[in-house]
Amino acid sequence: MVTPAAPAGRATSARTRHWLWAAALLAAATLVGLALDDYVSLASEAMLYVLAVAIAAYTLPRAYSLVCAVAAVALLNYFFTAPRFTFRVDDQDNLFSLFALLGVALTISSLGTSVRRETERARLNASRARELQELATELASATTAGKVDVLVQQHLERAFVGPCLVAVLDADGCLQVQAGLPAVVHDGLRACIREGRTLGRGTGRWPGLDAWYIPMRSDEHTGGAACIQNVSAYDQGGLEHANAICALAGQALWRLKLAAAVHDAEEESQWHRAQSTFLAAISHDFRTPLAAIMGAASSLQTQWQKLAPAEQDRLLRTIVGESSHLARLTDNTLQLVRLENAGELRMDWESIEEIIGSVLARVRARGVPGRVTSAVPPNLPLIKADPVLLAQLLENLLENALKYSRDVVELQVQADVSQIRISVHDRGDGIAAGDEVAIFEPYRRGDTSGQRGAGLGLALCRAIARAHGGELSVTARPDGGSTFAVKLPIEYPQPAAEFA
Ligand code: ADP
Repeated sequence: MVTPAAPAGRATSARTRHWLWAAALLAAATLVGLALDDYVSLASEAMLYVLAVAIAAYTLPRAYSLVCAVAAVALLNYFFTAPRFTFRVDDQDNLFSLFALLGVALTISSLGTSVRRETERARLNASRARELQELATELASATTAGKVDVLVQQHLERAFVGPCLVAVLDADGCLQVQAGLPAVVHDGLRACIREGRTLGRGTGRWPGLDAWYIPMRSDEHTGGAACIQNVSAYDQGGLEHANAICALAGQALWRLKLAAAVHDAEEESQWHRAQSTFLAAISHDFRTPLAAIMGAASSLQTQWQKLAPAEQDRLLRTIVGESSHLARLTDNTLQLVRLENAGELRMDWESIEEIIGSVLARVRARGVPGRVTSAVPPNLPLIKADPVLLAQLLENLLENALKYSRDVVELQVQADVSQIRISVHDRGDGIAAGDEVAIFEPYRRGDTSGQRGAGLGLALCRAIARAHGGELSVTARPDGGSTFAVKLPIEYPQPAAEFA
């Protein structure tokens, strides 16, 4: 972003103000001198002009105060030395006094100017130190390169009158600049980044440029560059200040780069840790039912003849039960892996009634007729969903409700304009206090009342809800049991409205 140039009229109005102030000081000295003329000596009247020159020297730039000093001597001569109201000087003594006054006035003027300059410089340095302190504090809380860019731009604009431009390098090392930037500015920015040094007026490098090009660098890394236009080759203090601002920006950008690298490394190691935990848990969970199936199957194979029909039946039921447990485990595992790769989600406009209908049919077919009731209002809006995953979520919630309670389980659907809420209510023992969050983590199991499981179901359900932009939560029911509720957003326009 480039700031506009300072208004051209500002300098002219400052000049007029200075002349008016010098004239006012001299007029005041003359009027007071004339008013006191009968009562005071020429020396006292000269003192009034010395006072006016001293005030002018402290408050006006050097050229104005020098003119004021010369004018003061001329006015003293015209109004107060004989012959009055002429610029002639007849008396030797008066002539000497006028020269002496001129010397004093010029000395005061130059002393006052340098005192004023020193004071201004000290004030400017103090305000620049404050600015840097402020910028350092603000940069410490910047979390993106874009924020660093904005902060540095603001501070440069405050410190310099010319247009300023700040550009940072992206992750691929490309300079982020607005389209239409003049080629000379672009080249200057790139050159100062490449050389890692300040270029432009008063720097001894590329002095033909009418700007400063300053890299934003720390010891190890250059994160971007700034360009400040309309600068003076003699403003070394300004150049130092601009360099200090860019050095702070360079350190902030280097800190962000390091933080990003640490974050990436942490993520990678976390991913490796999760992967090995996952593999260890999966191999254990799969091996247990497999061992039971293999044991039952080989007993049946080798001892079929010797086994009583009841024993044969028990072994067959073991095989069926363990296989269905294994199937559920495999489904949950596969879906969790699928969710890791969100690109594989097949989101489409789906009817929630149809998904619930197929889930209820499957759950009821598994031998629990009558235990599941449902209340689904008609004409529900469509939702954007992956039907397989959503069905898996609802099936897991219903299976859990049936597994961890003995009474009827109720599935309810409610909808408002923005979301659909599907809740599964049971009258089981509920979730132990303090476990309400932990049960949604993978491989975390609560009080299971001896029921089998791998602790994957609810983790998968929550992941599915979130992949659909929704949320899953659990609440305790007032008279015992739990309510697991999934909220899914409704998107607009709905397909019917789209084609209407
Ligand atoms: P799993 O059922 O395989 O243990 P889940 O992730 O499905 O794994 O559930 C995690 C834990 O949450 C369970 O071990 C159980 O303690 C608790 N839980 C889940 N659903 C219910 C429910 N409807 N009533 C009581 N506790 C439940």
